Amino acid sequence: MTISFPQRLSLAQLPTPFTKLSRISDKYGVNIWIKRDDLTGCALSGNKIRKLEFTLAKARAEGCDALITCGGLQSNHCRATALLGAQLGMEVHLVLRGEQDLSQAKDGNLLLDELAGAHIHCFPVKEFAAKLEELLQQQARQLVAEGKKPWIIPTGASDGLGVWGYLHACRELKADFEKENIQPQAIVCATGSGGTQAGLTLGNYLFDLNTQVVGMAVCDNEAWFQNKVREDIQQWQGKGGVTVDADQMGITVNDQYIGPGYGKAGAEVFDCIKEVASLEGVILDPVYTAKAFYGMLQEIKKGTWIPGDDIVFIHTGGIFGLFPQRDFV
Ligand SMILES: *Cc1c(COP(=O)(O)O)cnc(C)c1O
Repeated sequence: MTISFPQRLSLAQLPTPFTKLSRISDKYGVNIWIKRDDLTGCALSGNKIRKLEFTLAKARAEGCDALITCGGLQSNHCRATALLGAQLGMEVHLVLRGEQDLSQAKDGNLLLDELAGAHIHCFPVKEFAAKLEELLQQQARQLVAEGKKPWIIPTGASDGLGVWGYLHACRELKADFEKENIQPQAIVCATGSGGTQAGLTLGNYLFDLNTQVVGMAVCDNEAWFQNKVREDIQQWQGKGGVTVDADQMGITVNDQYIGPGYGKAGAEVFDCIKEVASLEGVILDPVYTAKAFYGMLQEIKKGTWIPGDDIVFIHTGGIFGLFPQRDFV
């Protein structure tokens, strides 16, 4: 399949390592492989960088000099945007959900946002939920009035443009599988705004990876993700000289391991973080990757995957989100 990729800025450290988690594999009886997208950078770690390579190339090509995006107070995506904006010399405005606790020192991603010089605008959860689009437009109007040219990046950089990030990653995965001589039964990732799953699902189909992409939901239910992943793929349609039938691809979402809600994890998730850290020296985060990893282990226990199977876990990053939740560890 020849796909003409759009312009891309080389911002992530690629290709990321692909290795087997041998002690976890021994313990659970299935070959568990890990794609280390937590190593796309240092402070700049995680999955958002892959999407932003395409998003920011477009923003620059359009002559924009400022970026506006949104997310939770501890958003990994906002932190990545803040750091990349600084690196590219673009002013960054973050519209954040929730109010800062001013009695406490800034922590995790929020600390890095601040260090990177991002302009932080916090809104109460209700107001944010009710009028996010308006809040982003308001910010944009303000910047235009100051003579700037802003580019608005949607939540998680998940849209038709962001899909390119994990479509691009699938070329790496194809080479990884060939090198290790494996034919994985599944690729498992945490799914939050859907763009990573959309790119992987599309790449699996277009590059004949012959596997199944399983999105482990961390916030909304299966119906929401089915719709969102399909929407991102539809938006991507026709780009790169390729058209696809999203209904033929099969989108697989597991929403059984969300726990108490977005950003809230139960004791089993923190136990999973400890287990993976102590057996493999790999750090997962309580918001995304540990929920997905825990869900994957539960599915192995249930017999969804069996001895001899190869399962690939995409480590999408998120380490800085662990520190503000240190009290639960
Ligand atoms: C954003 C994020 C995800 C989810 O990716 P989406 O493309 O938004 O679904 C998973 N893991 C981490 C660490 C993230 O920051």
